[in-house]
Amino acid sequence: MLQDGDLQVCHAIRDSVLVPKRTAKRLFRQSILEAWQNVCAYCGEAEAKTLDHVIPRHRGGLTSRRNLIAACERCNRRKGSSDWRQWFSLQECHCPERERRIEEWVNELGLEGISLG
Ligand SMILES: [Zn+2]
Repeated sequence: MLQDGDLQVCHAIRDSVLVPKRTAKRLFRQSILEAWQNVCAYCGEAEAKTLDHVIPRHRGGLTSRRNLIAACERCNRRKGSSDWRQWFSLQECHCPERERRIEEWVNELGLEGISLG
């Protein structure tokens, strides 16, 4: 079962035009960071330089576009392997609007048409 759809498609497209895997990986990463405007999905302030697995890998989370969001190093490290909703709701930076945005991202609605203001 290909739940990891987006990543697979990404590699398939890149492979067909002979882009090295390394480059595909970088572009994949970049496209997610850019979708979040390089701003941390959690605190909404710091520059996002990492990707966070919304559902941690050891809990069955996939390395797919919908399970990865932009996060700053601080939030990423602090969240660790916690349940993101639980962890996020306890943060000072918690904001219902961003929580909704993350949820929509995870549920494949993406960020199109959603105001980032
Ligand atoms: Zn952050």
